[in-house]
Amino acid sequence: MLRGGYVCKEEPNSQSSIKSFEPLTKFEEVQSMETDNTPCGDHRRVPSTNSMQELLMCAVCTFSMYPPIHQCPNGHTLCSNCKQRVQNRCPTCRHDLGNIRCLALERLALSLNLQCRYREFGCQEIFPYFDRPEHEKSCHFRPYDCPYAGEECLISGDIPTLVAHLKHDHKVDMHNGCTFNHRYVKPNPQDVENATWMLTVFNCFGRQFCLHFEAFQIGNSPIYMAFLRFMGTEDEAADFRYSLEVGGNGRKLTWQGIPRSIRDSHRRVRDSQDGLLIQRNLALFFSGGDQKELRLRVTGRIWRDE
Ligand SMILES: [Zn+2]
Ligand SMILES: [Zn+2]
Ligand SMILES: [Zn+2]
Ligand SMILES: [Zn+2]
Repeated sequence: MLRGGYVCKEEPNSQSSIKSFEPLTKFEEVQSMETDNTPCGDHRRVPSTNSMQELLMCAVCTFSMYPPIHQCPNGHTLCSNCKQRVQNRCPTCRHDLGNIRCLALERLALSLNLQCRYREFGCQEIFPYFDRPEHEKSCHFRPYDCPYAGEECLISGDIPTLVAHLKHDHKVDMHNGCTFNHRYVKPNPQDVENATWMLTVFNCFGRQFCLHFEAFQIGNSPIYMAFLRFMGTEDEAADFRYSLEVGGNGRKLTWQGIPRSIRDSHRRVRDSQDGLLIQRNLALFFSGGDQKELRLRVTGRIWRDE
């Protein structure tokens, strides 16, 4: 994803966020000129936005610097976070840091316009240096976090990447179709500690939906919950509806809802109880038998809202 072999980098993807003062149509030229293996600090007759951006990267943590930007008496710059951590010693030349602001760099930052770092995912937006981080936090094109609910997974990416990741790394079951019929069996229904959960992915209307099923506790009450998340944005999710039905032994519960985007964490959806909730007693009625085992059949359907 990185273009060129730069040593100084802000974060993955940042090298593609190139913005120049030229009109948009010139970006490609500017880009190809800049993306050879130019070492950091190489001087060019016309400084590119890219190299100015590099100037604004903290030499210590490699993140973009925001005021106050500091420098040592020899001119080595660093961000205010790092300044607090280096105990008044310049990490580059070991000189005492003192308390010198680098106003020139702060002003340079003010003059810069940058493309959103998610340009390669489709974002065409351009922002003043100081406004960009705020946009990027909620950029429509920003990568999604892995929707798997188990141990913390740090993978993020676009939807095709995550689908492949779920399949290969988490061994998640993938199904084609907009209806489902799932059976969940749990040998020890008393145990809802450590939230047991399951995830199945459905391909439906050419999109992917995550069906979560899990056990957890609300206060002292053990609860089972099934809900659907959509692998895409909130806006896209709003076009879909789903229903879930769980029953057995002459009883039945149904739920109809709107899938939540995977932008909403699994935890957040669960805590908001936006799904089919089944209290344990009821679940045991559905299971029938001797209540030693939980056996739930969950059926459901996904459709487009007309
Ligand atoms: Zn830093
Ligand atoms: Zn220094
Ligand atoms: Zn963006
Ligand atoms: Zn993952």
